[in-house]
Amino acid sequence: MPPLPPVRSIRTRMIVLFIVVITTTLGAFASHRHWLLRQDLEQRFERTRADVLESLAQSLAEPTWALNVGILRTRLDATLIHPEVVEACVFSPDGQEIYAAAGRPASPNGEPCASAGADDLLDRVVIYPPDGIDATRREVSIGKAVVRFSRRPMDGTLRAAMIQGVTEVAAIDVVLVLLLTFGLRMIFVPLERLQRALFQLASRHEEEPEELAKLGRQEFDSVIDGFNQVLRKLKLIIAERTEAELTVRAAIQRSNNAFAQIQATQAELVEKNRQLETLSRTDQLTGVYNRRRLDEALIDALAHSGTVFSIILLDVDRFKSINDNHGHQIGDRVLVDMAQRILDAKRPGDIVGRWGGEEFLIICPDTDLPDAAAQAEALRQAISAQDFSVMGAMTASLGVASFQSGDTIHGMISRADQALYEAKRKGRNRVEFGEVGVLVP
Ligand code: GH3
Ligand code: MG
Ligand code: MG
Repeated sequence: MPPLPPVRSIRTRMIVLFIVVITTTLGAFASHRHWLLRQDLEQRFERTRADVLESLAQSLAEPTWALNVGILRTRLDATLIHPEVVEACVFSPDGQEIYAAAGRPASPNGEPCASAGADDLLDRVVIYPPDGIDATRREVSIGKAVVRFSRRPMDGTLRAAMIQGVTEVAAIDVVLVLLLTFGLRMIFVPLERLQRALFQLASRHEEEPEELAKLGRQEFDSVIDGFNQVLRKLKLIIAERTEAELTVRAAIQRSNNAFAQIQATQAELVEKNRQLETLSRTDQLTGVYNRRRLDEALIDALAHSGTVFSIILLDVDRFKSINDNHGHQIGDRVLVDMAQRILDAKRPGDIVGRWGGEEFLIICPDTDLPDAAAQAEALRQAISAQDFSVMGAMTASLGVASFQSGDTIHGMISRADQALYEAKRKGRNRVEFGEVGVLVP
């Protein structure tokens, strides 16, 4: 597995983006709230100033007229309940004499209502005689009140509100960072696992690592790339499998063809074998059984000699003269015709073969001597009754022998041969079967 390609995480960027957006929004709200508060406090300050000065002008008229210092001080003290009022004094109309004062003076030498600090405001109100006094006298001032207002409480309130606003935004930011960190972790950790699993899947089968190293700019990109890579891999595997399947199918087709060919060859071989087998048992000139097959048939007949069987040895009479007078080919043709004549005359079940030269052997299963002699006679007649196409009249001599207890093939053949010899000796074209009773071992 090649090392995973470095992925530039968008998690941190998402967090930073959220924080910037939230902080900016909350900051804007807090600033607006602060501005509204300042407006409100300013209005309250101005209203308090106006109220205090107006109420002082009225409430101080009577005690000033009467120069009742005690009441004056009480009335001035009462204004101090407003946090904005820090000092209040009543002076004579020319301002030379102070009748009463309340609050702490701001001037360094302790002179009351003499100076205003940076945050302070000194307001003056002229005091006239109270109602009920002669109208002409009422137009002349009897004193003046000086009130020092301070903006410091208002600034303090604004500062506290600002600190509270900043603290709130910071707290919300912290909570948000924590929530986003853990919340996004829940999304990104499975995403990274998915990415790793996809890359592992894609990098199997010796995937070139450079290809994977190109992948992934961000988590989502890299997961999509991983999916694409896996898809490519799957397509490749499917293509490989299809190709392999086609190769296998072609191989199966080839082997089927080869098998069919082998089967055809095998059938041909069986046929050839059958032909060979037939050839090996057939006399090539006449088409009847050959000597080898006759030997087998004799052995077989002797093996099942529980029942009687007979043999007929047939020799063409004076055959040599045909060869001598007409040629070997005509002689062959006579042999072929002779074989056909014997085949036509034989009984079903009789076995006909060429014993050698111009001699034929007929094996007659389940046939005793008299029946065999009768069959030999039938053969003799079949040969002599009709002319042969090439040679005209032909005859044959036949010797018959039957199975005797304890007999051998050689013994039977010898007896048939002797009978044949006898037939020849007696003039040919005849059947001899006189069993001489001589068993040849
Ligand atoms: P017999 O009546 O005493 O049997 O006289 P034969 O002439 O038939 O007997 P012999 O044994 O004297 O002659 C047999 C001849 O058959 C000799 C041989 O040349 C001939 N012969 C043997 N096999 C074949 C063959 O396959 N084709 C031909 N054309 N002649 C054959
Ligand atoms: Mg002969
Ligand atoms: Mg002969």
